[in-house]
Amino acid sequence: SRTVAEKAREERELLPIHAYRDELLKLIEENQVLVIVGETGSGKTTQIPQYLQEAGYTKRGKIGCTQPRRVAAMSVASRVAQEEGVKLGHEVGYSIRFEDCTSDKTVVKYMTDGMLLRELLTEPKLDSYSVIIIDEAHERTLCTDILFALVKDVAKVRPDLRLIISSATLEAKKFSDYFDSARIYLIPGRRYPVEKFFRRLPEVDYLETVIRTVFQIHQTEPTGDILVFLTGQEEIETAETKLKLRMIDLGTKGSEIIISPIYSNLPTELQAKVFEPAPKGSRKVVLATNIAETSLTIDGIRYVIDPGYCKINSYNPRTGMESLLVTPISKASAEQRAGRSGRTGPGKCYRLYNVKDLEPTTIPEIQRANLASVVLTLKSLGIQDMFNFDFMDAPPENALLKALELLYALGALDGNGEMTKVGERMVEFPVDPMLSKMIVGSEKYKCSAEIITIAAMLSVGNSIFYRPKNQQVLADNARMNFYVDTEKVGDHIALLRVYNSWKDVNYSTQWCYENYIQSKSMKRARDIRDQLRGLLNKIGIELTSNPNDLDAIKKAILAGFFPHSAKLQKDGSYRRVKEPQTVYVHPNSGLFGAPSKWLVYHELVLTTKEYMRHTTEMKPEWLIEIAPHYYKLKDIEESQPKKTQRR
Ligand code: ADP
Ligand code: MG
Repeated sequence: SRTVAEKAREERELLPIHAYRDELLKLIEENQVLVIVGETGSGKTTQIPQYLQEAGYTKRGKIGCTQPRRVAAMSVASRVAQEEGVKLGHEVGYSIRFEDCTSDKTVVKYMTDGMLLRELLTEPKLDSYSVIIIDEAHERTLCTDILFALVKDVAKVRPDLRLIISSATLEAKKFSDYFDSARIYLIPGRRYPVEKFFRRLPEVDYLETVIRTVFQIHQTEPTGDILVFLTGQEEIETAETKLKLRMIDLGTKGSEIIISPIYSNLPTELQAKVFEPAPKGSRKVVLATNIAETSLTIDGIRYVIDPGYCKINSYNPRTGMESLLVTPISKASAEQRAGRSGRTGPGKCYRLYNVKDLEPTTIPEIQRANLASVVLTLKSLGIQDMFNFDFMDAPPENALLKALELLYALGALDGNGEMTKVGERMVEFPVDPMLSKMIVGSEKYKCSAEIITIAAMLSVGNSIFYRPKNQQVLADNARMNFYVDTEKVGDHIALLRVYNSWKDVNYSTQWCYENYIQSKSMKRARDIRDQLRGLLNKIGIELTSNPNDLDAIKKAILAGFFPHSAKLQKDGSYRRVKEPQTVYVHPNSGLFGAPSKWLVYHELVLTTKEYMRHTTEMKPEWLIEIAPHYYKLKDIEESQPKKTQRR
């Protein structure tokens, strides 16, 4: 019988791109820059690097292929390793933030676009690469857009380097124009007709319509899997629960419908499951974020249910607030999503919206994102004039200004916009500028050991505490154990206590289980912390611990996050100190309902209100002490009733 690897290798030859292999290689040889456009699933991401490897390009250097998403980088790398019959991380590997799965042997390297951007800091001419593929270019993520300009420059000084811009939709002309009329190559794809249906939404809750449609398809339509596009992990989990309950109600056997979620934070072991074919006689229902729109191709899908929403990053330069907003998708996305059902045969797409109401395309992220991090990277690469940078689409000027102002306030840039010593140190850390300033700033307060723990815990995201639906009270009590001590400590220090308590019990998994802590997240925090420690060492900051001086720790947090300070109002809400913005303590915070007068917060999240997530109490005079150029005495004084002066 055939092994998995043998089967994967045979499948390679069935992909649409296979017939164009030699033509493609010839074009790549003849053209330094090539724009490749092909239907999702035609084999661009998994095959082109292998063709190049087979043609000998890896003798001259690595083949780098960027992906906008972590999951895609990991998943395609593991697929290609499987097809080549090699161990992942050897010849074929991937690199994503805080996780490097490559070795000296690696010649085909998948990575997030953000990681390639960081590699340019240490390897400005990308000397170790023979080919760079900017994949999923149509996604137009912030890092991809910045990379366009940077690799275009590199190509000019490296005639031997080959550059491939690969994309799913037909924005090819724009890419070609930008790369000085680069040659465009279209891979003819296989696409079966897709019948589209419009479902009216009787309920407020569209998940209800989604679930009814799933069962209707299951009961009336021939075999074929169902793909449902949802906005994020939380919605996917809710849909999964509802589907399972309805299966019980309707007497549907667990072997009949197999629910298979996929989203960015899904643990790696579970990600692979989405690609496993459903056993005979059962139907797979894939619940996915828009990762399944073009980044990952899941075979066997015949039915798509599309409520028409996705989460996008949105930044308000006025308030400096960044949030993930649920927004209607674009017409281009709607077409892509529908297309997912017509890969293996004629498909059906059920839309819960009217396509006429949609905008034609999504606004590129660069025009709606916080630019502080990329501006710091560009400055570090020696790019002085941000306003005349060769952007494919320029960001709004006030967003650029806001980024420069913040970097100046943090001390990363001087009055002339040049990098400072502090800025150079900050760049070493692959985290947002405020977080890197907090780390660099901890040196002064002799608490770098505590601060990198806090930074690592914050970087893991929102998945430290486990709160199962039927044990919420127990879980909340367990969580509050890390808060109550002699004073109200706030969320940052609670995170520190969680980590240190875990360390004290020798990183025990059992302890995590007993304390409603997710052990996977803790292990990830430990990995991240190890890396941050290495970087501290690299920039010459000693690891010093000052565990009992909470004020020192809070001051180090403020050193990075002083722009995020807020003051309690009479009505229990907070007001940002330097911005006319009302914000609230997040219900998950340990300080919820136990207000401190002055707070510093990690980030704002917008749900029903603008909530501060991860807050710590502080003293207003520290603002003047730490950021005298940013805060003046009048900012922290009690507001006095205005007196009118008489002569
Ligand atoms: P494209 O980049 O053109 O959209 P890909 O190279 O990503 O296409 O995918 C080509 C095919 O490879 C898919 O249709 C699927 O059959 C297979 N494939 C890709 N990734 C995986 C994976 N992680 N597991 C199983 N099959 C995969
Ligand atoms: Mg692809």
